[in-house]
Amino acid sequence: MIKAKKSLGQNFLIDKLILENITNTTNIKNKIILEIGPGTGNLTSSILKKNPKKLFVIEKDNELARNLRNKFKNQITVINDDILRIDETLLFKEKVIVFGNLPYNISTEILSKWIVNLKENFWFESLILMFQKEVAERIVAKFNTSNYGRLSIISNWKLNIKKICDIKPDAFYPKPKIDSSLLFFSPKKNFIKINDPNNLEKVTRIFFNQRRKMLKKPFNQLFNGDQKVLDNLKINLNLRPQNLDFETYYRLASEYEKLRS
Ligand code: SAH
Repeated sequence: MIKAKKSLGQNFLIDKLILENITNTTNIKNKIILEIGPGTGNLTSSILKKNPKKLFVIEKDNELARNLRNKFKNQITVINDDILRIDETLLFKEKVIVFGNLPYNISTEILSKWIVNLKENFWFESLILMFQKEVAERIVAKFNTSNYGRLSIISNWKLNIKKICDIKPDAFYPKPKIDSSLLFFSPKKNFIKINDPNNLEKVTRIFFNQRRKMLKKPFNQLFNGDQKVLDNLKINLNLRPQNLDFETYYRLASEYEKLRS
């Protein structure tokens, strides 16, 4: 049995039913699949059973990568590298479906790498990714709720997101201390244009800096009290950051961009 490395966040999925559920979330047959952090290959085996056209896996751990090559031979292409260093847009000619049960400490980094800097011609058809449950709840949160914030706004900009299921620690070996959730992301056909995603990051950062305070201060800081923007976006400055919906934040970022250009 392979000894799991804590430093690489190794918690391997062992629950057969969950593995089956994960691969049933979308149609895999004849599709190009990318699995990140395949570990000992349990999810890999489940994916292969659904007859993908091709399966690429990216695994950072040298020993696990070697084992995967031995175990699956030419059924899969093993890339022994760090997902954070790879430019996926150069790797594929066709849109891919991505499965990932990655360490929780890099999952939000992956999100910003993939979502914030996402080009219009999406390189993927869908992303099926595991998160720590609390983080997943922040990602899918809607406005007027306490989990709503920067992560929800930024993630929902170009993507439709839904939760597939929660997963208990028992489904993994070794057992993590926390609950997990599986999320499904797919590209939106229409979204508000913001040329530089840093502007959305900045607007949300300033607005959510003090989430219990009224909108007046952050608004004035960014827009210098511009009444036209307030009228156009129908914003009431006595509300709090969590009371503005997604669309209002995207339009604010777009207005902010115009102001600065
Ligand atoms: N998906 C497998 C393993 C999950 S554990 C399963 O469900 O059973 C997380 C896996 O991600 C481990 O195999 C770990 O070695 C790998 N990993 C950790 N950091 C990585 C990185 N930066 N790039 C690629 N793989 C990584």
